[in-house]
Amino acid sequence: LPKNPIGFRMPTAVTITGRSSSLTAAFVSAIIPTIYPSHDEVLEALAVLGMANDDVRCSYCGDAYTEWDHLRPLVVDQKPTGYISELPNLVPSCGKCNQSKGKNPWREWMRGKAPRCPGVRGISDLEERIARLEAYERWRQPQRLDFQAMVGDELWNEHWQHWRDTLDQLRKSQTCAERLKAGIASHALQKS
Ligand SMILES: [Zn+2]
Repeated sequence: LPKNPIGFRMPTAVTITGRSSSLTAAFVSAIIPTIYPSHDEVLEALAVLGMANDDVRCSYCGDAYTEWDHLRPLVVDQKPTGYISELPNLVPSCGKCNQSKGKNPWREWMRGKAPRCPGVRGISDLEERIARLEAYERWRQPQRLDFQAMVGDELWNEHWQHWRDTLDQLRKSQTCAERLKAGIASHALQKS
């Protein structure tokens, strides 16, 4: 990255194809069941994680929680894993950890070298947090479903054909956008 001596930062130039992984996530998120836990189940889950319901923290780093994260990812290598949105597969998380973790297995990620992961941020009670999450995994086994077997090949294949078609449209749109950008940039004023 270039040095930034005077406090200037150009807004990030997003690309159309740069949206591919969030599109894939949406094609999985749109089909998975969501099972809402009862109040008592949430209290039990928090107790297993060593938290009170009036002071919920990120399970990974201890910061204030902002969301519940899928402990096991819903998508790996652009395919659904079979895990769903249900309490045994959800833990309170901060946005920093959720974004840093992505599709990685949680234990390796926590101890690993990913930007902004708990290991890199020097979280002091890292091993204690890992032990809590291991207890959470023992508490309730999350479901891992074979979606395709449940709905049949025809509907399943139709869904993923839509996904491929949409990705193809993104690529075509990106190619067109690059030509536009080059044409527009050649006319933009460059004062120095
Ligand atoms: Zn966190």
